[in-house]
Amino acid sequence: MLTTRPRGTNDFLPQETEKWQLIEKILREICEEFDYHEIRIPIFEHTELFQRGVGETTDIVEKEMYTFMDRGKRSITLRPEGTASTARAYLEHKMSALPQPVKLYYMGPMFRYERPQAGRYRQFHQFGVEVFGSSDPGVDAEVIALAMAFYQRLGLTGLEVRLNSVGCPKCRPAHRQALQQFLKQDLEQLCPDCQGRYDRNPLRILDCKNPQCQKITAGAPTILHSLCPECVDHFAAVKEYLGMAGIQYQVDERLVRGLDYYTKTAFEVVVQEIGAQSAICGGGRYDGLMESLGGPPTPGVGFALGMERIFPTLATQGIELNPEKMLDVYLVAMEEEGQKKAFQLLMDLRKMGIKAEKDYMNRSMKAQMKAANRFQVKYVLIIGADELAKGTVMIRNMETSEQKEMMVADTLNFIEKAVK
Ligand code: ATP
Ligand code: MG
Repeated sequence: MLTTRPRGTNDFLPQETEKWQLIEKILREICEEFDYHEIRIPIFEHTELFQRGVGETTDIVEKEMYTFMDRGKRSITLRPEGTASTARAYLEHKMSALPQPVKLYYMGPMFRYERPQAGRYRQFHQFGVEVFGSSDPGVDAEVIALAMAFYQRLGLTGLEVRLNSVGCPKCRPAHRQALQQFLKQDLEQLCPDCQGRYDRNPLRILDCKNPQCQKITAGAPTILHSLCPECVDHFAAVKEYLGMAGIQYQVDERLVRGLDYYTKTAFEVVVQEIGAQSAICGGGRYDGLMESLGGPPTPGVGFALGMERIFPTLATQGIELNPEKMLDVYLVAMEEEGQKKAFQLLMDLRKMGIKAEKDYMNRSMKAQMKAANRFQVKYVLIIGADELAKGTVMIRNMETSEQKEMMVADTLNFIEKAVK
């Protein structure tokens, strides 16, 4: 058992981690271009934050949280998502005093007790952005543009933006009533989850993946037809701005987000090829969130994208991420004395900022050359018996197979110029 990781978790071995780092680098670059700034929030929070900030009637709070009592008898939960914490931090640090809007991003592990399957894990990673303090529809379009800029930079194509408006507390009650009215006669045919949702959160029945529920809700009244004038205008403006950003979208009247605090814009980015777990990004506006945490009314909009789901998407589209090769120089040396000289050179090279490695396994010359090949370095520095006797180093350019013999001090100069 001590050689098996917990279900739903992953180890990312170095080769894979390098790809993650590349993705993270691209995300950071795009955030810089869009003027978003990183916030680092705790991995665990008071359970109540998620109960209130995510919503009691959501799958997350109802059945997916990792909740435990700590030694001080406080109820603690491993964060299942990043929005509630980010909003809490906005309030706690009085960010409303900063120039608005405040544009934040985060990335890191999230925890949900789900049935693990391809693209669905118990510890997974999200990148997310949150913009607080502005209800400008341009911001809704901007966050969608940011997500799409990222996927585009990875080279992904064929992604679909699904867009909807879920209204606001002014227009939702009428729709809720119409929906309940519509579902009433089929209530018994709905899945047990949806029967529970009928009173507490009927909108979410539209989101159910059960085929029977989907059939029943096929002709259900959608919120788009009950939007108040303010929500209608806002939705129209979001669409106009998306057009200006060159982003194609599909209005999906049935799109609702699983979380209670969403208002107006709701969106998802989906990719068909990766099968059932096709949502790679989800977000929207949540003007009601700050108040549900006890703060003053503060508009907000953002999204979270699943980092694990990027990889199968890249794979099905035949896109290879090629992180930079790691090493510049490999040192090959014989005998203890040669190895010591190589060690000295290795340390000197690294001080100069050159990425270098040597053998630590007492391998044969031939095996060391093979290792150098495996690292795909441009230069190999060889200290064999001859070089040892003369106090020199043989520099081999692995691309041209040219060799040059130099004194140690000259070798460092040569490599510094050649590599940098
Ligand atoms: P789903 O319908 O797939 O459960 P969700 O609505 O629960 O998604 P969000 O809470 O909006 O998802 O999270 C945003 C993104 O995070 C999702 O679009 C998905 O890419 C990713 N994600 C969510 N849950 C998981 C998970 N358990 N494992 C891996 N990625 C996940
Ligand atoms: Mg989910």
